[in-house]
Amino acid sequence: MSPAPLLICEHCDTVYRRISLARGQVACCARCHFVLERHHRLSANGLLALTATAMVVFIQANTWPIITLGLNGQQSSATLWGTIIAMWQQHAQIVSVLVAATLFFFPLMKMLLFGWVFWFARRGERGPGFRGVMIVLHYLRPWTMSEVFMLGVLVAIVKARAYFEVTADPGVFAYAALTVLITVFAGVDFRQLWDVTAERKP
Ligand SMILES: [Zn+2]
Repeated sequence: MSPAPLLICEHCDTVYRRISLARGQVACCARCHFVLERHHRLSANGLLALTATAMVVFIQANTWPIITLGLNGQQSSATLWGTIIAMWQQHAQIVSVLVAATLFFFPLMKMLLFGWVFWFARRGERGPGFRGVMIVLHYLRPWTMSEVFMLGVLVAIVKARAYFEVTADPGVFAYAALTVLITVFAGVDFRQLWDVTAERKP
């Protein structure tokens, strides 16, 4: 399938004639400098593999302990879910719900939906509910905070070292890997899925 011949800037509605981009090239709007399109290096197969990898790392990041704090010979390790439950019990319900949503439920939903879309995109098809899924993915985009969490954990580790013996647990490394994967995902323009897929023939 050939991509649509025209591109519209999301921010200022200027219309451009599409040109094919070489590796590493980015098309930007001449008026508002918003990124119109990037050359995409990954195929649907590659993106599906990336989603599966992110899923495995995500499960590890959420089940393995993140840090262990030691004081006077006592050790206490924390997992993400242990922390969320502790916050709920200590009457910080709003924060615990926000943390659970942005670090667990939204990223999980995003990965499952991406998996669904890429699974069909491998054959150039749009799966059932493609339109709705793409809209949900668009709105979910700003609501996943794993990379922000990673920064927060690093700052907490450095700060807590003044008072406790802090040991970084495998969960931190899983989060670091997840942050790298999220950065790779952020560089992919998913709007191109509209161009490279077609409705399934009945
Ligand atoms: Zn523009």
